[in-house]
Amino acid sequence: MSPNEATPDAVISELRQTLRGPLIGPDDTDYDEVRKVYNGAIDRHPAAVACVADVADVITAVNFARRHQIPLAVRGAGHHGAGFSVWDDSLVIDFRTQRSTNVDPTARTVRVDAGCTWGDVDHANGAFGLATPSGFVSTTGVAGLTLGGGTGYLTRHLGLTVDNLLSADVVLADGSFVTANAESHPDLFWALRGGGGNFGVVTSFTFRSHPVGEAGEVIGGPILYDIADAEEVFKWYRELIPTLPDDLNGWIGVLEVPGGPPFPEELWGRKVCGIVWCYSGSHDKADQVLAPIRDFGSPLLSGVAPMPFPVLQSAFDGLLPKGLQWYWKADIFEEITDTAIGYHRQYGESLPSSLSTMHLYPISGAAERVATDATAFAYRNGGWNGVIAGIDPDPANLGKITEWAKNYWEDLHPTSAGGGYVNMMMDEGHERVQAAYRGNYDRLVEVKRKYDPNNLFRINQNIVPA
Ligand SMILES: Cc1cc2nc3c(=O)[nH]c(=O)nc-3n(C[C@H](O)[C@H](O)[C@H](O)COP(=O)(O)OP(=O)(O)OC[C@H]3O[C@@H](n4cnc5c(N)ncnc54)[C@H](O)[C@@H]3O)c2cc1C
Repeated sequence: MSPNEATPDAVISELRQTLRGPLIGPDDTDYDEVRKVYNGAIDRHPAAVACVADVADVITAVNFARRHQIPLAVRGAGHHGAGFSVWDDSLVIDFRTQRSTNVDPTARTVRVDAGCTWGDVDHANGAFGLATPSGFVSTTGVAGLTLGGGTGYLTRHLGLTVDNLLSADVVLADGSFVTANAESHPDLFWALRGGGGNFGVVTSFTFRSHPVGEAGEVIGGPILYDIADAEEVFKWYRELIPTLPDDLNGWIGVLEVPGGPPFPEELWGRKVCGIVWCYSGSHDKADQVLAPIRDFGSPLLSGVAPMPFPVLQSAFDGLLPKGLQWYWKADIFEEITDTAIGYHRQYGESLPSSLSTMHLYPISGAAERVATDATAFAYRNGGWNGVIAGIDPDPANLGKITEWAKNYWEDLHPTSAGGGYVNMMMDEGHERVQAAYRGNYDRLVEVKRKYDPNNLFRINQNIVPA
């Protein structure tokens, strides 16, 4: 993945003449803006950024990078913590202007351009009382999240994002354009569902959309407990989740209560463990389904209420604007052991900054009933996708938040299933990528050899063809 020498200006100007969208280079005034990614700790200088206007531009850019042997980066919404979407001396295919959606409410599908965020899709689906399973914030890109798997509020009810992907349009390494779905290029379709950006540039996705809650309104929100109650809360939670109906999901975490409304002032800055719930079933059963949750423990705050799904999905967006410093580590957990719970309390009590946090997202219910080898996403044993995120606005604190995340991960890792979720890891090397795919790795290598034997698409959690 090491970048080649800087690209000569003449070569870049040749490309500029063949694209319909703008090509932005170091001499352009908006260069510093377009090279920024979500993680403010990443500061890379690409050779040029191609803001593609259509599929033809993507084909042109792919052919150009291959012919001139220029490293090729692909950007959805630029949210990956490792900043894979912008690389030094690379040509970046940037989808930022490609954000249209098209819902078919009768077929219950939504076609989505590769530059969309999940907020775009929630907005489009929400008008019809529909939703597509995605994540837990609305600012993440559809492209990167989908290609890595996608765990979110609707995972237990409706499966991972990849379980709802029907079709993808893809520009391959040789510049050809294909549609991958169950009938056409099924091997590629299998690999795209979890294997990341290794196999081609996806220009659009078609997903299933589902009715959720009552006309798109779910019942959700956080319940927070004092960090001193962490042992009791985590033990109760790990026993409860497998007994719940699929349409009730809740992720658990350790965090600091944000210092502002809507949180009550007396809780600002308090270290807590919390569960954010989402009930996406019919409201006439809600009291019965939510009773065990409402009856448990001594919460400091209970914010579970009816709301449109897009409101829940975007509830934490404001806390996590673009440009913060991030360092994160991930692992999948098939169980939450007593030892792990001890670490959650310990590291929860010593959060290095007010935004740093740890979350465990369930991969159970509908997601667990899909066979482990049905898609490239390899962890289907009813566990949790765990992420430890050191986050702070101040670059001077990057060392501190990184050290906390690394230490927490080192202690917790022996209790994990061995690998992590590719979308929540930094650039951690080949072994960690292999561990993320477990038994599916060899098949991914085969597909990679077929579709990208020279590893043109290598600025990612890379599956090495050799
Ligand atoms: C605040 C925050 C919250 C998150 N919450 C969740 C969550 O709840 N659930 C979850 O599953 N994940 C979550 N994530 C992780 C998220 O899935 C990844 O950050 C994902 O990479 C975001 O997609 P993107 O398009 O913005 O990525 P980018 O950074 O643009 O790209 C990521 C990778 O995908 C590749 N890629 C992007 N677009 C394409 C394309 N069109 N074709 C081929 N390859 C492409 C890139 O080359 C790169 O390797 C979260 C991330 C953040 C920062």
